[in-house]
Amino acid sequence: MITNFINRVFGRGKRKTAPDKPVIWGPDRHPIRKELISRGARKTCEELQRAGHTAFVVGGAVRDLLLGMRPKDFDVATSAHPDEVRALFRRSRIIGRRFQIVHVMWGAETVETSTYRAHFTVKDPEGDEDAPKKDKQDEHGRVLSDNVFGTQAEDAVRRDFTVNALFYDPVKEEVWDFQHGLKDLEAKKLVMIGDPATRYREDPVRMLRAARLSAKLGLTIDPATATPIRELKHLLENVPQARLFEEILKLLLSGNAVACVQRLRELDLHHGLLPLLDDALDDPHTGPFAMAALKATDERLRADRPVSPAFLLAALLWGRVERRWKHYEEKGQPPSPALHAAMHDALDAQRGTLAIPRRFDATMKELWLLQPRFLQRGGTRPFRLLEHPKFRAAFDFFELRAQAGDAPLEAAEWWARFQDVEGGERERMLHADDGPKKKRRRRGKRRPAGEGGPDAAPESGE
Ligand code: ATP
Ligand code: MG
Repeated sequence: MITNFINRVFGRGKRKTAPDKPVIWGPDRHPIRKELISRGARKTCEELQRAGHTAFVVGGAVRDLLLGMRPKDFDVATSAHPDEVRALFRRSRIIGRRFQIVHVMWGAETVETSTYRAHFTVKDPEGDEDAPKKDKQDEHGRVLSDNVFGTQAEDAVRRDFTVNALFYDPVKEEVWDFQHGLKDLEAKKLVMIGDPATRYREDPVRMLRAARLSAKLGLTIDPATATPIRELKHLLENVPQARLFEEILKLLLSGNAVACVQRLRELDLHHGLLPLLDDALDDPHTGPFAMAALKATDERLRADRPVSPAFLLAALLWGRVERRWKHYEEKGQPPSPALHAAMHDALDAQRGTLAIPRRFDATMKELWLLQPRFLQRGGTRPFRLLEHPKFRAAFDFFELRAQAGDAPLEAAEWWARFQDVEGGERERMLHADDGPKKKRRRRGKRRPAGEGGPDAAPESGE
C-alpha cells in the first residue's frame, strides 16, 4: 500500500535540481503520519518550533517509515544551537566532543537532537591550495573535524546518501526533500550525495554503510556510487579501530547479516580489510558454520529474540581457533592446553587487525572451552555441563556447528533429547564412561583411539 502511495506520488514528482530549495511533499502526498513518530521526537520538534526554531525528524527514521519499516530510533535536526536546545528542555544534556549534540530525555526515550551542520568540502585531497586546512583532514582526505553549523539545505548535503537526507515535520506532516531522496527511494536506488569518491575519502566508513543500508533496505547501489569502492577500499585501514568495530557490529546485528555479507563480497570489501569475515567465510571447513551463525542471528533478531554479539564473534573466530588447536595437537600438546593456546592465538591475531573489545573475551572463551565437553556423555559430566551457567549458549553453538557439519549431528541430537527427558531417562541415556580418565590425563597421555582430535578435550573450561 505504501509502495502504491509512493508510486502515485512519484508518478507526478519532478526532480528539482536547486539543492537549496526543497521539494515539499504535503500530508496527502506521502504515507507518514505523525502518530508513527515516537512521542519524544514529536514533542521535541513541537517545543523547538514553538520557540521559533525549525525542527524536523531526519535521516534513517524518515527513510524507514517511507519504506513501511519500523525505525530503530528517531533523530531530530534543528536550527537551534545546542545551548538553545539545552535551555528549552529541563531533561536534556549536551554531549559529544567532535560535534555537540543534545540528548533530550522523555521518560525512557532519548532523542538525539543536532543543530544543522554544513558539509565540510574537500576540494582536492591531493593538495590543492583551496583544500581545507590540514588539521581538518588527514592526508587521504578523511575529515577529522566537521563541527560547522549550517543551513538546513547544507545539512542535507553533508549526509551520505540521498535517501538519508529526508526531513519530516511532525507538526505540518510534510516531507522536505533537498536531494531527490524520495525519487531514489522509489527507484530502489542508493545514491551518494556529491562525488562518491570524494565522499568515501572524507569518511571511508561510508563504504560499509553502503553495503549495510543497501542490504537492509533492499536497494541497489547506484553504479556511480559503487564503482569507486574497489579503488578506495584500502582507506578503511585508516579508520580508527573502535569506529570500524562499531560499524561491523552494526552490520552483523542488523537483522540482515547474511545479505550484508553478500554485499560486502560483491563489493570485494570483505577481503583483507575485514579479516574477521574474510577468514570466517573463506575457510571451506568452518565457513558454513560462520554463515549458519549469521543466519541464526538474523532469524533471532527478526523474531525479536535477544542476540549476543560475543556469541556471533566467537562463531566467526571459531575456524581460526580450530585450526590452531589442531596445529598444537599435532605438535604433541594435550587437547586442553592446545585449546587454550589456540584461543590466545586467535584473539591475538584478531587484535592485530580488527580489535574486538576485551569485554567480549570472557564469553567467547567460555563458549569455545565448553565445546569439547559436548562429546563427553558418560558419568556425571553431562549433568555438570547441564548446570553450567553458559550451557544454553554453548549448546546453541554446538548445535549450529553440528548442523553445519563441524561436529557430530548425533551428539547434538543426543543433547537436545538429554535436556528434554526426566532424570531416570537421563541416566539410561548415559554412555559407558567415555570421558577422559583423570589419572591418564595427569600422566599426560592421549586418550584412546576414537576419542582423539580437537573435540575430545577434557573438562578444562570451568
Ligand atoms: P540505521 O539507524 O538504520 O542504522 P541510519 O541511516 O539512521 O541507519 P545512523 O548511523 O543512525 O544511520 O545515522 C543517522 C543519519 O546520519 C543518517 O541517516 C545520515 O543522514 C547521517 N549519517 C550517518 N553516518 C554518516 C556518515 N558516515 N556520513 C554522512 N552522513 C552520515
Ligand atoms: Mg538511525
